Amino acid sequence: MPPAPVYYEPRGQLGPRIALAVPVGAALGVAYAVASCLVTQVFEAPPLFVLVTPLFGGALAAASRWVADRAQVRSRRGRLALAVVTSAIALYASWQAYLVLSDLPGLDFTPTWAMSPAKLGHGLAELASRNGRWSWVWWLAEVAIVESMIVYLMRAVDIEVPFCERCHAWAQVVVTFELADRETRTAEARLLAGDAAALATMTPRPSGAADWAVVRVYRCECGRSRHASLDRAQREAGASAGVRTYHAIGRRPSLYFDLGSSATTALTPIVTNLEIDERTEQALAAARDELARRRRADTDGEPGPTARIG
Ligand SMILES: [Zn+2]
Repeated sequence: MPPAPVYYEPRGQLGPRIALAVPVGAALGVAYAVASCLVTQVFEAPPLFVLVTPLFGGALAAASRWVADRAQVRSRRGRLALAVVTSAIALYASWQAYLVLSDLPGLDFTPTWAMSPAKLGHGLAELASRNGRWSWVWWLAEVAIVESMIVYLMRAVDIEVPFCERCHAWAQVVVTFELADRETRTAEARLLAGDAAALATMTPRPSGAADWAVVRVYRCECGRSRHASLDRAQREAGASAGVRTYHAIGRRPSLYFDLGSSATTALTPIVTNLEIDERTEQALAAARDELARRRRADTDGEPGPTARIG
């Protein structure tokens, strides 16, 4: 009887680099203010905000993940909270910078780069009385769009990566390989039963298959943190624009903004960060090599068109 599976559990700790949220949030806020000035003052085309505001939300989610990695925020909930705080800093900085940069005529006060919340509120009230009361509706909608994008993106794409509490570093992907989609449930059962060697006998992902399973092994430098994950992957054709994750061997999955492409890969977690021992890691590395060997042999031995006719 195999031991009950143990999963990675993040600890609620923060590193000192959490302070990066302030300059990162402020810099993105100022960049957004510059874009807002271009939209309202130069192009005078407010509908452009439909494009600019979601880009701001997407950039904030990516930047928040960058800060969370460096500040070593382990739990997904903590990472989401950090992203909400970073975006609040960014929004505050963007209003302040907008008041300074837009050089609005007819204001009774002079905006500066260091304004108290009270002075900023006063400035926004004056701007609203000049531009019309609908300004407040738009600003509230802007906050709602940015914050809901943050919550959506952090939940959808912020994958939990193990962090080693001994060598104090994120674990890296050291082994990864793909199986045929129909092997997913069997692979899950074998992994949970502690029989990783069985994966070597399974069918590799057929070339060009739109659905498959992907196995990843995470290990830290000192070797104390060792975990395996299994996800179902699905190629989706005709994708629209959006923010997606990118998985590279030896790195944390990262976010990028996709302007729309012919195909993307969506992942569904099956097994997340199952604790494994060194023997299991070696068995999974051997399975990767065996599957790669078999796949090469299949490609070489593929019957030509004449064989098929005969
Ligand atoms: Zn370690």
